[in-house]
Amino acid sequence: MTRIATENYREEAIKGINDPVLQKALANLQMRLGRGAEEAYRNLPEGPGLRRKAHEIRMNAIENLDVLLELLADKIRSRGGHVFFAEDADAAVTYCLETAQKHNVRLAVKGKSMITEEIGLNDAFAAADIEVAETDLGEYIIQLAGEHPSHIIAPAIHKTRSEIGLLFSEKLNIPYTTDPETLTRAARKALREKFLSAGMGISGCNIACAETGHITVVSNEGNIRMSTTLPKVHVAFMGMERITARLSDHDILFRLLSRGAAAQKMAGYVSYIGGPRISGQADGPDEFHLVIIDNGRTKILADNEFREMLCCIRCGACLNMCPVYGEIGGHAYGYAYTGPVGAVVTPLLVGINRAKDLCLGETLCGACKDACPVDIDLPRMLLLLRAKLADGDEKWNVKRENTGEKILYGIWSEIVRRRWAYDAMLNLSREGLRLFTGKEGMISSFPFFLKGWTDSRDMKLPARESFMLQWKKSEKQKRVK
Ligand code: SF4
Repeated sequence: MTRIATENYREEAIKGINDPVLQKALANLQMRLGRGAEEAYRNLPEGPGLRRKAHEIRMNAIENLDVLLELLADKIRSRGGHVFFAEDADAAVTYCLETAQKHNVRLAVKGKSMITEEIGLNDAFAAADIEVAETDLGEYIIQLAGEHPSHIIAPAIHKTRSEIGLLFSEKLNIPYTTDPETLTRAARKALREKFLSAGMGISGCNIACAETGHITVVSNEGNIRMSTTLPKVHVAFMGMERITARLSDHDILFRLLSRGAAAQKMAGYVSYIGGPRISGQADGPDEFHLVIIDNGRTKILADNEFREMLCCIRCGACLNMCPVYGEIGGHAYGYAYTGPVGAVVTPLLVGINRAKDLCLGETLCGACKDACPVDIDLPRMLLLLRAKLADGDEKWNVKRENTGEKILYGIWSEIVRRRWAYDAMLNLSREGLRLFTGKEGMISSFPFFLKGWTDSRDMKLPARESFMLQWKKSEKQKRVK
């Protein structure tokens, strides 16, 4: 079953803010990967403007999805592969489960894939008594700990070395150590056994190509290559938007993906997969299945204002720059997608009212747009989601969230458009605020719904005279002189 815990955003965010270990890990991550990506974009021979070109490539693919997906499916089928279009998470999971059961699979090895998190694949396999072993080191750690990823590409960022040492000692039965090399070797040994005995390999798809009819998966650990070539059956999952028209588009997208995700020129391993092993090939599965998932994406595609979100290549770069993610970490977002990308895409996939705190929690500072390798305007869509929450929206089935706030902002809008009314309000509020003012002229505690303003900082009483009044006075004095 798909895990949706977006309602716990506030509690989980507070937990994250109060966790000193997480704070240190997030600061390191943003310093290393966030700054590194900026530098990597600057050093591109074509300059950071290449991101705009990538945006055009992605938008062009999104506008022609129907044709491109058919081309991809035809080419894969012509090589003996199977393609299944899944309308929702249940259909995708059921297809994969039935394929596993048909082949009597007891163990599947999986490369990191956010879409399988989105559809809750692991839980469904566990319920059917089939083991799914995560093979990306970070995902493997998280799986051993029984937790969920907290970052799109660095899922175990919230875990310390000593926590991992204790975990490995308990679960892998090795002496406790915090030495990264020893820990990695222990994971490698355990995973080798899984690779060699698995009946099914499961992967995601970074970007597919309609022209050549293949999917591409990238990794830095080589685990995806082993997951997709050693077992007899390979099932790959892709969101229906993860495709481009031409192979030449891939060059640009992967150069930007690697820079945005990990400040690298290119990922360590890039695999192009277009079907099962053919006679004469040494490696590869006997059966290849590609599951192309809709799960709410058609609705996003049909909306001109949100369609741009489908350009996302899930690189995680926006997380590495976001000041909110940098404070609260990933678990607060309560779904597969965290950070700014999660704050836009999760409400669209699971319901805008249900996931409202995610988009309300972001600062709209614009750092995510600057970090995005495909130049997605996330702040624009965050504002749009907020507008839907404020006004309600039939198409997205959004109920107006806070009528009181709507009325207050309506009044505010009328006041700020009239100078005299604004001055009168300032004078009145100054007098009213005096009731809450402490000894040093600061307000440290507001009552009721205004409490949030003073929970973590004091507020200064507005100046006795407004800036405009002081300006007028000073101009008058100048003229008199
Ligand atoms: S929104 Fe942009 S930066 Fe964020 S995950 Fe998607 S592609 Fe990467």
